[in-house]
Amino acid sequence: MLMPPFELHRPSTVEEACSLAAKLIESGQDFDWIAGGTDLIPNYKWHINTKPHVISLAGIDGVSTISMNEIGCMARLHDIAEGGDAHPLVAEAASKVASSLIRRNATLGGNLCLDTRCFWYNQAEEWRSSIDWCHKCDCGTGSDCRVIPNQNELCVATYQGDVAPTLMVLDATVHLIGPNGARSVLLHDFYQLDGMTRNILQPGEFMLKITLPEDVEDWTGSYRKLRVRESWDFPEAGAAAAWKKGDRSTLRVATTALESIPRRHDEEVANSNGDVKAICDAIYKSTKPVNNTALPPRYRRNMIKVLVKRACEE
Ligand SMILES: Cc1cc2nc3c(=O)[nH]c(=O)nc-3n(C[C@H](O)[C@H](O)[C@H](O)COP(=O)(O)OP(=O)(O)OC[C@H]3O[C@@H](n4cnc5c(N)ncnc54)[C@H](O)[C@@H]3O)c2cc1C
Ligand code: SF4
Repeated sequence: MLMPPFELHRPSTVEEACSLAAKLIESGQDFDWIAGGTDLIPNYKWHINTKPHVISLAGIDGVSTISMNEIGCMARLHDIAEGGDAHPLVAEAASKVASSLIRRNATLGGNLCLDTRCFWYNQAEEWRSSIDWCHKCDCGTGSDCRVIPNQNELCVATYQGDVAPTLMVLDATVHLIGPNGARSVLLHDFYQLDGMTRNILQPGEFMLKITLPEDVEDWTGSYRKLRVRESWDFPEAGAAAAWKKGDRSTLRVATTALESIPRRHDEEVANSNGDVKAICDAIYKSTKPVNNTALPPRYRRNMIKVLVKRACEE
């Protein structure tokens, strides 16, 4: 559990962060961004894919904004949950992340860019060495994936962040910045179906903020989460639903913790003519959790029907 050595860089502006990233890339040196560190630091202590350099986003001015239409990457989940400025649906999901101690450090950027998790990966180095590693952290051995063997290409580790599905159903846009400039994409196009690649971030790019549409105040919704211990556990399944107040035909649904990415289910909702049971059945059919988190995949899959129903019917 000893922290491996790394050099910590602390830029104070976005420009400085981008130029630091560019310099490290140019000199062929690997690095990670760090925000609150509640996920990265435990992974480093377990010697999971550590890097020789870490760039902290914590000292950058102006990236902790919280309002109805904008949340900065360094906004703490505690402030999103308790501050009264964020959309109530986003605040609800933030309040269900981990424990109150963790939420005081944890940030929105870190939550949305959270590494995917797997029973075979989120373990101490000795444990992983005793099973001869796995594809996502193979320590140069070329080890296979333990969940879906004999393929050595895809990692099916699970994305277990709580906030993403609520932002997806509110049509959030993520704003990214890096040495090659800025760009924006819808949050539901940000994730990539591979537990190692995770998202579309290019080398040196980081998430600056998210924005929500102007009429977001007119939208309401609910987030439901399945976890082992209410006090602090990651979601084993999660469902968010949102609709424009007074207009159920605008219903949107998204899920999390069922595969490598959180997913918005537009097709399933559109094909169900607003019938909640049909939506639940369609989402049940289209999601196939694998055996790499605390609860069995069949149970998580069955529970998603319950969570979607409760989120839609609230
Ligand atoms: C005991 C425990 C329980 C937890 N339970 C939950 C839970 O219930 N729900 C949940 O969602 N999470 C949970 N977490 C995970 C984590 O605490 C949260 O997801 C948190 O929001 C991560 O934010 P952070 O700022 O600490 O991220 P960090 O640890 O700093 O970073 C996480 C990842 O995101 C990257 N990153 C951070 N910021 C940016 C950025 N702006 N742009 C690009 N990349 C970035 C980092 O490089 C790293 O890969 C738990 C963690 C622990 C230790
Ligand atoms: S899904 Fe496979 S490759 Fe990915 S972390 Fe788990 S065992 Fe490793």
